[in-house]
Amino acid sequence: MTKIAFIGLGNMGAGMAANQAKAGNEVKAFDLSQAAVDKAVEAGCAAAPSVADAVKDADLVITMLPAGPHVRIVYGEIIGTAPTSALLIDCSTIEVEIAREVAAKAKAAGYRFADAPVSGGTAAAAAGTLAFMVGCDEADFPAVEAALKPMSRITIRAGDHGAGQAAKICNNMLLGISMIGTCEAIALAKKLGLDPARFFDIASQSSGQCWSMTSYFPEPGVGPNSPADRGFEGGFATAMMLKDLNLSQAASRSVHAETPMGAKAQGIYQAFSDAGFANKDFSAIIKSLEGKTDEL
Ligand code: NAD
Repeated sequence: MTKIAFIGLGNMGAGMAANQAKAGNEVKAFDLSQAAVDKAVEAGCAAAPSVADAVKDADLVITMLPAGPHVRIVYGEIIGTAPTSALLIDCSTIEVEIAREVAAKAKAAGYRFADAPVSGGTAAAAAGTLAFMVGCDEADFPAVEAALKPMSRITIRAGDHGAGQAAKICNNMLLGISMIGTCEAIALAKKLGLDPARFFDIASQSSGQCWSMTSYFPEPGVGPNSPADRGFEGGFATAMMLKDLNLSQAASRSVHAETPMGAKAQGIYQAFSDAGFANKDFSAIIKSLEGKTDEL
């Protein structure tokens, strides 16, 4: 049994912490939201009153926070409070530089640290089937992989500190682009008189096939169960996709990479967010492309 401190129990962290408890680990859970803590307690975790209390005798600290600034603040509390024997794993999606900065501080204080952002969404978080992309010292990877096991389908070491975030940012830039492309194609297919279900049957088995199509088809009642089946609630919020596209554009500027489609996707999601749909699932962009945001 591992003593785990789990900080950040939102859409993703709730399911991840629950799976660690289900695996027989002792999970002390903390979040700024009492409702989130209560949910974690129902799932078999113990409530911690603060970050410091959660981590003070932990073997493993896992964080799943919204963005880089939250990670900086929380690790400011963890480093120096958790025992130096604790393995620290941040699963949030954040800037490569912040991941490297936190890793350097943790390492200087004597800890093992990994950035381990995830792919898979809330359903995979609940099912324990996330894909983790890890940036850590090579020697630490077996321990990181074992620690993530109750939450994972696959864990791949991307490279040294920050490499997990680099992989995540590039993956999600591609996801943002492919979701808009999938939605454009569905909207056009419908206007051309195609039944979306027939279009799904064809495109999901043809060269237009991609994850946005086969695992997240944004039409209710067509293809897999997806946020479209529940009014585009839950899932991966537009605000989160916009955050990742902003991260990808900042990263591409920092290394002078050409990412014109990523920039276009960032602009489209920025406009959708500004129009008041930041909390809707990112696949709701189809309603914007169809001129039907009044249905949201
Ligand atoms: P969320 O906003 O639902 O959850 C974040 C939680 O962190 C909230 O409950 C919030 O109260 C808590 N929090 C914030 N500051 C805190 C602090 N100082 N101390 C303790 N708790 C604090 O976000 P989410 O959807 O769970 O996403 C978390 C991370 O995972 C993000 O970085 C996101 O980009 C990434 N991610 C999300 C998805 C998804 O489908 N939602 C998929 C892959 C990756």
